[in-house]
Amino acid sequence: MACALQKAMLLCNLISVTDGRLVDIGTSGRYITSVNPSSDRNPVQGPSPFISFQDAIVFPGLINSHDHLDFNSFPQLGNKIYPSYVAWGEDIHLQNKAEIEAVLKIPKALRIQWGVYKNLLNGITTVVNHGPKTNIETDLVSVYEDCHVLHSVQLDKKWKLKLNFPFAKKQPFVIHVGEGTDEEANKEIDRLIRWNILNRKLIGIHAVAMTGQQARHFKALIWCPDSNYFLVGDTAPVKDLKQQTRILFGTDSTVSAGWNLWNHLRLARQENQLTDAELYASLTTVASEIWRLPKRGSITTGQEADLVVAERKTGYSAMDAFYSVNPEEILLVTRQGRINLVDARLENAVFTAPGSRTGFSAICINGRTKYVRGDLPALMKEMKRVHPGVVFPFYTERTGEEGHAPSV
Ligand SMILES: [Zn+2]
Repeated sequence: MACALQKAMLLCNLISVTDGRLVDIGTSGRYITSVNPSSDRNPVQGPSPFISFQDAIVFPGLINSHDHLDFNSFPQLGNKIYPSYVAWGEDIHLQNKAEIEAVLKIPKALRIQWGVYKNLLNGITTVVNHGPKTNIETDLVSVYEDCHVLHSVQLDKKWKLKLNFPFAKKQPFVIHVGEGTDEEANKEIDRLIRWNILNRKLIGIHAVAMTGQQARHFKALIWCPDSNYFLVGDTAPVKDLKQQTRILFGTDSTVSAGWNLWNHLRLARQENQLTDAELYASLTTVASEIWRLPKRGSITTGQEADLVVAERKTGYSAMDAFYSVNPEEILLVTRQGRINLVDARLENAVFTAPGSRTGFSAICINGRTKYVRGDLPALMKEMKRVHPGVVFPFYTERTGEEGHAPSV
């Protein structure tokens, strides 16, 4: 068995989340080259190195449709439940001014890098960033920025001009909309619809105040329930909205939501507004369709080898196991056939060739050691040098620094 880092590999004995079947997945370069039912015997030693799993589920690298990569060094900021994002923004800029300034002192490039890692640690391999283009070059996660970004109707002074600029590239316009429970949060949705004179493709974020009638005017809506409950104490009526448009899922950043995507998914699941399959699709197949990423979001031959393997809790069905995952239980994340995260329990199976661990660093999440590509401890150290109070949800083996994970 040679080192299974990049060229080709065979991942064996994995439980497919969608149908519970045991499968072996072969990859070569950046693509999936085979998906076959698992055989009892170990695969014959061929050109592909293999990793054999036990009691582990597999799903495609998740697509997070909403995050602000540069805002993930903030703690959740908020002092009460607000009627809308406008009231929230005003209040935190007054009451949490010192904290905001301290975090913003950390260079943006470093904050973005951490935002990328936050996604990787959750099993996300594609993230749609909201904000000015980062132009970040990273192999850790695909950062999607091929869209027009408008902040919101009430806080983006030029939204009408941008939306109706006749020479704008043919890309969807992504905008926070209806993030509140007051009248204005609902009215702004009508204003947006009315001013969409050129009939642009709109993708709305939050939509807490939206009705099914209004949802018809959107190509898709991004549901961020964890952020919604924290900010405005309510969430989008996706049960109604899904009748009229497509539903995607977003984490938002840690300024308004916990860092653990899996808690967001459990919150969403409790809502009973989407079926398990619909919620799963909002992070996989529907997201790949709406963002036009046809080679992502499912595990079939020819797709990009964006794969996540996680432990299955004993006795859980494949789907129940998916919804019970936490970052510490993620065993492996590949993006385009390259391993970017691996649990220490797989160390011997993965890092077989001499020196193959080079380029990875060790971190500890809730007692479990993970090797991640790049020097995450060094990144943390650099950020803490500027703002010692910044909190990370892991600690490093090298220094034993950090360790508290408030929102895990
Ligand atoms: Zn946002």
